[in-house]
Amino acid sequence: MKKVLVMSMILLAGVVMTACGNGKDQNGGNKKYDYLVLVNKYSKLPDNWEKNVNLVSAKNAWGEDIKIEVETYKHYKRLAKDLKDDGVEIELDSVYRSVKQQQELWDRWSKDPEKGIDYAKKYAAVPGYSEHHTGLAVDIVIRKDGKLIEENEDMIAEREIFEKIHKKLANYGFILRYLEGRDDITGYTYEPWHLRYVGSAKVAKKIMNDDITFEEYLGSVKDIKGTPEAIKYQIEKTLQKYFKDVYGDKIINSRFNVTKIYSDKEVEENEMIKSLKIGKKDVPFEVTYELQPADENDVDELLIPNGEYDKKLGWIKDISRLGILKYNDKTDGYSIDSFGTGW
Ligand SMILES: [Zn+2]
Repeated sequence: MKKVLVMSMILLAGVVMTACGNGKDQNGGNKKYDYLVLVNKYSKLPDNWEKNVNLVSAKNAWGEDIKIEVETYKHYKRLAKDLKDDGVEIELDSVYRSVKQQQELWDRWSKDPEKGIDYAKKYAAVPGYSEHHTGLAVDIVIRKDGKLIEENEDMIAEREIFEKIHKKLANYGFILRYLEGRDDITGYTYEPWHLRYVGSAKVAKKIMNDDITFEEYLGSVKDIKGTPEAIKYQIEKTLQKYFKDVYGDKIINSRFNVTKIYSDKEVEENEMIKSLKIGKKDVPFEVTYELQPADENDVDELLIPNGEYDKKLGWIKDISRLGILKYNDKTDGYSIDSFGTGW
């Protein structure tokens, strides 16, 4: 039974907590750049991010001009050389895409009578939510017997070649971003061609050797740090699971923005805490979220006071609620408690 929460408190809060690229240098490279930035369907590219990315020009497999982050390119070239010595040829496909370019693609597809909004939603990331915005995500194609293999299905069929490629990634600071069977965490099905530069071989090896997703890696590392971002991440991850459990297939997509985290003890006037070790504590929080119903008929069921269904976008937006991220001794995990649905 879910408890009902009082809404009025939430609306007073104006402080917004943002995920920040804090520019920690991992590799002696670009000082301003956070090579561990998380961008996925639920985590937006941080504001002003694009101003800090140091892009260089490169050519893709078809000789077209493309842009790529400077350290990523340097390490990509070393990886490609190493693979070539081993008889495997890789070339670049799509690398950097700006938010603006993504918006143009989105607009073009959603206005196209042949494609439309559903097609755009299925095949294009929402502008601001593509890892390609970072310049650190690299789609590759392979060349076999002089011929380019570029179609997704054809690449997936080349298991042996990709196995060789994936084995070498971590030595150069790359990881395989969308692992097989892990789309409930990453939001994407298996993509053997989508590589991600994470700034250091050490981090990449940890992720690849442990066979975990980037999301899981960040969860573990950030928990130890106990930063507000860690808690935010933990809340978002738990909410994703929560909505999946409660609504199942009625939602095809959800996005969260944790706007405030409260201390688990009594707090003076909703004062925001700067840092809290999440450890084995319960953490009250405030969040706004957006849901994308699988079907317009589901909207009534999902819609609650405060929420507004944007017909054009197909999302329910701007719903703000309080919840408690509760620690469970038995499972050593977290669940969302008192995330009211009934007021
Ligand atoms: Zn990609």
